[in-house]
Amino acid sequence: MEQQLTGEPVVIVVGGGVAGMTAACALAEAGWRVQLVERRGYLGGRASSYLHPGVGEIIDNCQHVLFGCCTNLMGFYRRIGVADKIHWTRNMTMIEPGGRRSVLGPSLLPAPLHGLPKLMSAHAFTWADKIALGRAFNALMKPVAQESTESLKDWLIRHKQTDGAVNRFWRLVIASALNAEIDEIAFPYAAKVIRELFMNSAEAGSMGMSTVPLSELYAGVTSFVTERGGSVHLNTHVEGAAWDDETSQWTVSTRSGVLLSDFVVVALPFEAMEKLIPQLPPVEGVEELTRQIERHEHWPICSVHLWFDREITELEHAVLLDREIHWMYNQSRLQGRGGNYIELVVSATRAFAALPRDEAIAQALRELAEFFPLVKEAKVEKVVLVKEVRATFGVPPGIDSARPSAVSPWPNLFLAGDWVQTGWPSTMESAARSGHLAAEAACLSAGESRSILNADLKPRGLMPLLSS
Ligand SMILES: Cc1cc2nc3c(=O)[nH]c(=O)nc-3n(C[C@H](O)[C@H](O)[C@H](O)COP(=O)(O)OP(=O)(O)OC[C@H]3O[C@@H](n4cnc5c(N)ncnc54)[C@H](O)[C@@H]3O)c2cc1C
Repeated sequence: MEQQLTGEPVVIVVGGGVAGMTAACALAEAGWRVQLVERRGYLGGRASSYLHPGVGEIIDNCQHVLFGCCTNLMGFYRRIGVADKIHWTRNMTMIEPGGRRSVLGPSLLPAPLHGLPKLMSAHAFTWADKIALGRAFNALMKPVAQESTESLKDWLIRHKQTDGAVNRFWRLVIASALNAEIDEIAFPYAAKVIRELFMNSAEAGSMGMSTVPLSELYAGVTSFVTERGGSVHLNTHVEGAAWDDETSQWTVSTRSGVLLSDFVVVALPFEAMEKLIPQLPPVEGVEELTRQIERHEHWPICSVHLWFDREITELEHAVLLDREIHWMYNQSRLQGRGGNYIELVVSATRAFAALPRDEAIAQALRELAEFFPLVKEAKVEKVVLVKEVRATFGVPPGIDSARPSAVSPWPNLFLAGDWVQTGWPSTMESAARSGHLAAEAACLSAGESRSILNADLKPRGLMPLLSS
């Protein structure tokens, strides 16, 4: 596997998740010779799909949702030619137990007022809830100090949010997007999500879902890299790396041999990075990085995949109120698949993740029937429960000082991964941003100043005026 280095910069990208793929494709486009190394037999990391042997169906690791504001993820999708595989919707249907529906979404009013008419007519909220939400949105017009260490819970108390607003909006829509309890979310992260999804523009808040299983989205990554002189090494577990000061080169050891490069981008989740650190050269600054990693914590996400003998709803997706299951995705409609395939997602709860399999499935079905009565008559033909214990990292107050930048303590080695400093919570957008930031930093250290990061969407309508 050992190879000689030639002409253009050679980079090894460790980890084939969204962060690693994004960095690899950006650097390949910049003319670098990229070697993308992934320990599994497929690309995608936490955002991938696979054939489930028990049911013989391809399932996503979990439904992955993006929003219009995810400019770097979309930049990556455009680069590999799959942007048209994302289905966009601007409306979010909320359902109460018993089946009453409310729809949140934009109107013709200019931002940030575009969501107001539908919010005001939503049955899911009382007038007291609506007034409380209006007060909170108004407070969010002012810029939020990024260094604030207030939790979302404390901010909600300070802004007198009602139980209805907390449980049906903040806890369900915002905390579940950030995948943590409200007392464990740093307020600036919640503010960012609210402004992007509900205030900046209708475009920023549109919700995107893949129309194909996630791994199909990345089918073009290998050819993108190889057509530009690089290579993709699957089933290749990186075990360590050594730096040679004389040749200014890295030797990366894998279970299948060694690879040489001028640069390395390590695009691993924080726990895998922590394991790799002792196998990297001991340099100044490593202790600080280790201390930062030790402050990170995982949050689980569970998904229940159900195949019914009939259609139980015409909706593509819905937010389910007041119960343990939060989101319903109708995969038969979204991905055009047969089999009346419904996926339920339970985020921001450790209690559901701790339930035994049969109990978790029984609870999910019981609750689903409260929203869609046809479930009671339908027969479940196949079922899969996926518990991702290490789904995302939390964003508690103060977490920013534990998120390192792309520039690492090692020479010519850059960090990527959703957990590095991007200003975004644990999402595919954060991973894509980190990949672009690492690629930019690598180019800069090679003497080439290149702008790779995709710009944020500009706030529209009255938003620039009102929030300045
Ligand atoms: C259940 C679930 C639901 C989610 N829902 C959403 C959502 O709706 N929207 C959203 O935006 N985000 C969602 N996320 C978060 C999103 O999946 C992650 O933020 C993102 O995929 C992280 O990408 P990454 O590249 O940073 O890390 P990863 O995806 O973890 O990629 C790291 C890669 O490194 C590989 N690797 C590890 N160790 C080694 C080694 N030693 N050598 C070589 N390779 C190695 C791994 O196999 C993996 O492929 C969800 C996550 C989960 C788990």
